[in-house]
Amino acid sequence: MLPRLAAGPASVSLLFGSIIKGEVALNRDWLTTVRQSLPRLGQIVSHMRPTWHLPDASQVSAKWLVDHGIEAAIWDVDGTLMSYHGDDIDPSFRDRLRALFVDPAVRHAILSNCGEERFLVLGRIFPEIPILRGYRRADGEMVLRIRRGEEDSLGADALAALLGEGARSIRKPDGGLVREAMTVLGVEKPHRVVMIGDQYMTDVASASLAGARSIKVETWRRDTFPLPVKLSQAVEKLLFLLVHGRSGSVQSNEPKR
Ligand SMILES: [Mg+2]
Repeated sequence: MLPRLAAGPASVSLLFGSIIKGEVALNRDWLTTVRQSLPRLGQIVSHMRPTWHLPDASQVSAKWLVDHGIEAAIWDVDGTLMSYHGDDIDPSFRDRLRALFVDPAVRHAILSNCGEERFLVLGRIFPEIPILRGYRRADGEMVLRIRRGEEDSLGADALAALLGEGARSIRKPDGGLVREAMTVLGVEKPHRVVMIGDQYMTDVASASLAGARSIKVETWRRDTFPLPVKLSQAVEKLLFLLVHGRSGSVQSNEPKR
C-alpha cells in the first residue's frame, strides 16, 4: 500500500506533461520512455525501491556480487557507466569495469533505453558483453535483439520487416525485458540477478517488476544530460522520497572492495 502523495497520479502526469511541452531541446528517446511509462505510473512508483544505494559503479566488484549470491548483472549505460551518450566507460572506473566484465565469476549484459543508432554504438563500446533490446509486435509478442560487438541477432532486413509490421521498441521499466535478459545470461532465479542503474523509474523498477535485485547509483556526470532528462530525474527523486523515504533501500550493505 502506497502512502498518500500530496500530488496524485493525475497531478504527476500533468507535471510530466508540462515538462514535455515546456522544453525546446526535447530528446526523442526520453520522450518515448516517458510516454510508455505514464499509463503505468502508479505501478512503477511502487517498484522504485532499490536493494542497495551506491555512490557509483566503481563500488561494484566481482567479489561483492558473488558474496551476495549474484550470478548476473544487467547494466544501464548513460549516467551509470559514462556521461550522457559518451563514447566509452568513464576513465574514472574504466579499467576496473572492463576487468569486471570479463571476470568469469559473474555474467554481464547491457540494457539501455537508447535509440537504434546508439544501440549499434553500444555494441562497439562493449564488445565483450551482450547488448539487449526488445521489440513488441502488434500482437503483443516480444522479440529480443542481441548484439555482440558487430554481430546482431536481427539482420537489417529482419529489423526493417519487424518495424515495418508495426513493432515498437520496449523501454525500461519493463520486467519482461529483465526476464528475457536472464534467459540470455542463463540465470533461472531472479534474486540471482542485479540491475545496476542511475534511475529509479527505469532501472530499479525494471528489476523489481521481474523480482530481481537492484543497485541504484548516483547519476554520473549529470551536467552532461539534456534539461528534460534532468527534470525527469528530479521528479523521480522527489517521488521516491515521498513514497519510500530517505532510507529507502531494502538492504543497506555496502560493497566490499
Ligand atoms: Mg541511465
